[in-house]
Amino acid sequence: MGTLMKTITLLTILVILFTPSSLLTAQSSQTKRLVIIDAAHGGADGGVIVTDKVREKQVTLALSQLLQKGLAKDPDIQVKMTRTSDKAVSINERRKIARAAPAGALFISLHVNAGFGKNATGYEIYFPGFKTAPEDKGGSKAILKDMVKNKSLNDSVRFAQILQRNMEKVFPRKGRGLRDAPMAALNDLTLAAVVLEVGFATNADDRKKVMDEKTRQAIVEALSKSIREFF
Ligand SMILES: [Zn+2]
Repeated sequence: MGTLMKTITLLTILVILFTPSSLLTAQSSQTKRLVIIDAAHGGADGGVIVTDKVREKQVTLALSQLLQKGLAKDPDIQVKMTRTSDKAVSINERRKIARAAPAGALFISLHVNAGFGKNATGYEIYFPGFKTAPEDKGGSKAILKDMVKNKSLNDSVRFAQILQRNMEKVFPRKGRGLRDAPMAALNDLTLAAVVLEVGFATNADDRKKVMDEKTRQAIVEALSKSIREFF
């Protein structure tokens, strides 16, 4: 063999020796889709009062951890949490995690609602990016039709619609519509992002639901199902 052939043979052997495992590793981590679960509030920021002993921050963390556990069984999904304990995480830190995500990632922020009187009840799904908030379900539909401007917004709306469909099975006719509103944590992100307000702490029925293990599990199942459908 000439020197050139020797070099080529050696290179071929080296390529065969070192390629497969490293390539496979790179591929499998690339095909995993990332979902960032954001347990809203934490630490000194308790969020809304749910019961004498429970604040919103505890409910959002419990839901996030249930969701993480549920998704851990899925080999195609990678989960990242903005917090895993009762600590303060600033909006900027949460946004930083979202901005570091690869293309095609999904950001889900979990909250408990409050206000609008004791009769306000049901879940709400917010997505960022549009200036005017829809008045009702018809309004939100009209807005949805109009905008296909940008992929991340489009994906946010697509995920919001999937989630609404699956949440409707958990809380029939309890949806308050898809809501387009500026949310500090979500605005100007370049990934699909939604806020799910699971129910109203100021409403007796909702309060019971968000404190109930079975209902929490049902919410988490609706979320997991939606995430799989979205990806
Ligand atoms: Zn909140």
